[in-house]
Amino acid sequence: MTEAIDIAPGSEILETSLGVLHEVFGYDAFRGPQAEIVSHVGAGGDALVLMPTGGGKSLCYQVPAIVRERTGQGLTVVVSPLIALMHDQVGALIEAGVAAAFLNSSLSLEDAQQVEKQMLRGELTLLYAAPERLTTPRFLALLDSLHERGKLSLFAIDEAHCVSQWGHDFRPEYRALVVLHERYAGVPRVALTATADDLTRADIVERLQLQEARTFISSFDRPNIRYQLVEKKDATTQLQRFIRDEHTGADGHDAGIVYCQSRRRVEEVAAMLCEAGFNALPYHAGLDAAVRQRHQDRFLREDGLIMVATIAFGMGIDKPDVRFVAHLDMPKNIEGYYQETGRAGRDGEPANAWMAYGLQDVVNQRRMIDESPAADEFKQVLRGKLDALLTLAEASDCRRVRLLSYFGEASQPCGNCDNCLTPPELHDATESARKLLSCIYRVQQASGTAFGAGHIMDILRGKATDKVKQYGHEKLSTFGIGADLSETQWRALLRQLIAREAVQVHDAPYNTLHLADAARDILKGQKPVWLKSLADKAASSARAGRQRASRATAKDDGVPLSLSERECLEALKAWRAGVAREHNLPAFVIFHDATLRAIAGRKPETLADLDGIAGIGQKKREAYGSDVLRVVSAFV
Ligand code: ADP
Ligand code: ZN
Repeated sequence: MTEAIDIAPGSEILETSLGVLHEVFGYDAFRGPQAEIVSHVGAGGDALVLMPTGGGKSLCYQVPAIVRERTGQGLTVVVSPLIALMHDQVGALIEAGVAAAFLNSSLSLEDAQQVEKQMLRGELTLLYAAPERLTTPRFLALLDSLHERGKLSLFAIDEAHCVSQWGHDFRPEYRALVVLHERYAGVPRVALTATADDLTRADIVERLQLQEARTFISSFDRPNIRYQLVEKKDATTQLQRFIRDEHTGADGHDAGIVYCQSRRRVEEVAAMLCEAGFNALPYHAGLDAAVRQRHQDRFLREDGLIMVATIAFGMGIDKPDVRFVAHLDMPKNIEGYYQETGRAGRDGEPANAWMAYGLQDVVNQRRMIDESPAADEFKQVLRGKLDALLTLAEASDCRRVRLLSYFGEASQPCGNCDNCLTPPELHDATESARKLLSCIYRVQQASGTAFGAGHIMDILRGKATDKVKQYGHEKLSTFGIGADLSETQWRALLRQLIAREAVQVHDAPYNTLHLADAARDILKGQKPVWLKSLADKAASSARAGRQRASRATAKDDGVPLSLSERECLEALKAWRAGVAREHNLPAFVIFHDATLRAIAGRKPETLADLDGIAGIGQKKREAYGSDVLRVVSAFV
């Protein structure tokens, strides 16, 4: 007999966890820190998990839940703030063969009682519940009963930043969750969030009493998202061209989200896209709750819908195959921009974050800050955050390096943003900048009052408009000194000067331009100003477009699908749509696109051939394997 070898408990749990990952979810390997997290939580440790959207937080508690249930430790309770999504999350687990249920106000009394019975009889592995339900005496009594019998295995607190008033989604009910620790001290807890800032993190630890928890911080990079920030000319035309060039294939267009600033604009853009033949729906807080719900359901369930929305849309939308997020107006700050763009490409496949921004956006955002009732110091913080975003937009180096460094993470140029793919050509615009600054100065000197951007540009370009003549500005020495640049170029330069705080826009009364501190050094010629040459953007989007053409129809190994494979893929999608309808679930819950593409590329003939295709666990193979083979057989 050989000597027994001691295995560290962690590595044994990791092995079991890998087995579950493969058997239940059909995946080969954990991503990033998942392996460490599932080992730690599976072994009964507390954890605080900070991971970006799409990083794979769900598996961090679902796998330990299954592992622990199989070793007789009972139920995992998942706290989730989004009632609307529980149905799909639980549906996905059931599809994978996991005993899961949810308790929330959408259930009838009988159905809720049924779930409670299952829970008490130990028939469930995971139970999802809203925080307000969890802390009711009735629910706590159920938990007590499980706990007494040693059948309360784990608490997972999703969207844990809701406990913090520093976060953007403060939910007072989350504060009461500290009872879980007080009442069931021995039951491990894992709290998860995609909000990474230090203030929120400290608040989560304190409010939930997670001082003993191990913290797991992932990189916040989303390498599959390509950032493109383009200068706004005719935004809606640019948007249409972007969707057409980069997100439209033979089988229609991709699913995407278009963010606009106002409700009215949402309605206009949605109508415009529909008119142009796209499949688009509006979403904003002014719509009837029932309409909003219907539009959200359709977006989740149907293929290739474009949601045109205000920022009211998106919290917790876990649709994995959103291929683009477009901003038609500039958001308020980088935090918002990153959160919104993060909704693209959760499945890890290539996705685009596209934004059109212009001078008017800057002016509008400034005005909103100025007009807000907030205290002055707070307004100053808001202006600083807006400037950081403006600087990102004006940058001519890697967008990702700048984004990540904003969140305190160092990185190298990414090769997957507009500036990396097509480094903009820069030219020295110091002379033009000085002309612009002195024109602003002269005009104000001469008239005793300040003017807006349009008027200043008319003077620079030597246009003797009525207004110019009315003020006698055609007699100024700066009249016509800037005829060499187009209005677009002047605007680009002006944005740059605003971003560098050489120019300020005052909202009252007419968005007038004023010199600011940094103007002095530029005027003296001590600080150079570089400007991007304009032709580059078109080339960059054309190149991105070409890349899209090959990726939309590629297999998991990147080899393009043949014609018959593409037809097979369409047939698989049609079959999937039928199953999804029948089960009242989104299509991606049945199989992800990548899984269908891998099937179409591999043309399996036997159930064994399905092994090793990512996303096909044991239960799905049993439930759908023979259907899939039947669909594929027509193309073999
Ligand atoms: P998050 O909640 O962090 O935003 P999810 O848990 O929804 O992310 O996971 C995002 C996507 O990544 C899901 O579609 C999930 O199936 C997939 N995924 C997560 N972990 C893995 C893995 N280890 N292997 C393959 N796919 C994974
Ligand atoms: Zn880059």
